[in-house]
Amino acid sequence: MGISESSISYFKKLLDEATDVLITTHYNPDGDAIGSSLALYHFLVSQGISAKVLIPNELPSFLMWMPGIEQTVIYTENPEQGKDLIAEADLIFCMDYNSLSRVKLFTDELRAAKATRIIIDHHIEPENEFDLIFSVTAVSSTAELLYQVIDEAGFASGITKDMAECFFVGIMTDTGSFSFACNRPQTFEIAAKLIHTGLNVERVHRMVYDTYSESRMRLLGQCLGSNLKVLPEYATAYIWLTREDLEKYDYQQGDTEGVVNYALSIQNVAVAVLFTERGDRIRVSMRSKGEFSVNEFARAHFNGGGHRNAAGGDILKTMPEALSWFESLLPAYSDEIHKSLANYK
Ligand code: 5GP
Ligand code: MN
Repeated sequence: MGISESSISYFKKLLDEATDVLITTHYNPDGDAIGSSLALYHFLVSQGISAKVLIPNELPSFLMWMPGIEQTVIYTENPEQGKDLIAEADLIFCMDYNSLSRVKLFTDELRAAKATRIIIDHHIEPENEFDLIFSVTAVSSTAELLYQVIDEAGFASGITKDMAECFFVGIMTDTGSFSFACNRPQTFEIAAKLIHTGLNVERVHRMVYDTYSESRMRLLGQCLGSNLKVLPEYATAYIWLTREDLEKYDYQQGDTEGVVNYALSIQNVAVAVLFTERGDRIRVSMRSKGEFSVNEFARAHFNGGGHRNAAGGDILKTMPEALSWFESLLPAYSDEIHKSLANYK
């Protein structure tokens, strides 16, 4: 599961034999999904291996500048090409997801593919549908784990500035700019090694975080102003966004990224949720402080999952139904949430 001598030697053997490599990542890709996929892409190309990146759906605009983004294939825009890439590949990487169902749009194709499948991921409990598994939950991000795999395989000295930017975006975005999931010294040691390649940290930060459109900033205002409810008795806060809200602020993919963290930043709030209306369902994004597991909560109630402190899922309800149903679940969790808050020092 983790990085062992035998998994690294199998990894190297697979790379030696591969001719067509396909890198895939999860639906609604985030900074770590894209960062780790592109870092791997640059690495493979540097080794003389032909590779492509296949993304299920649209990317957030704050990732559009990343080196190598122009060669990615977006499945929703080009499903035939996506299917061909999957069928032709002899090696498929599954980056930043733990179950083939997480790509949503080409799960069956991945299952039917002739290729060997390698997963590199940091979510708990990967499904048993991969041939080689690098799965470590203690790392900050898939990008950090990929760095370790490449390092253990003896290739870290070949990491270029372009690659370093991709790794860094993964680590930076999955740790909220080094504010959570970053208590291990290795995360910073790897970041330091990346900076040694000439990476400009301030520029990368600016490209990801200081490129809001005016409407995205005003949407955030709506979230924090009118659409935030705090429930002190359950140490919980939630934000909701209806279809009308999204339309009013000209919602673009990625515009709600990070919004849920504002609710969690409130003092004495240990559970934060963002409910977003998407078609016939409500998309749920959850965060927690301390030992309270939103992964388990999302698995139990929202047909989803993720990590202990960051998880997601969805539910087939209207917004008012979803919100009142969520509130009705809280009394049963009240003690656990308060305990988590009390122990979170
Ligand atoms: P976000 O709230 O940022 O969309 O997702 C937080 C975390 O939960 C991410 O690590 C993501 O991989 C995971 N996650 C989000 N949605 C789902 C889902 O529908 N199913 C599962 N299994 N994990 C999810
Ligand atoms: Mn990740």
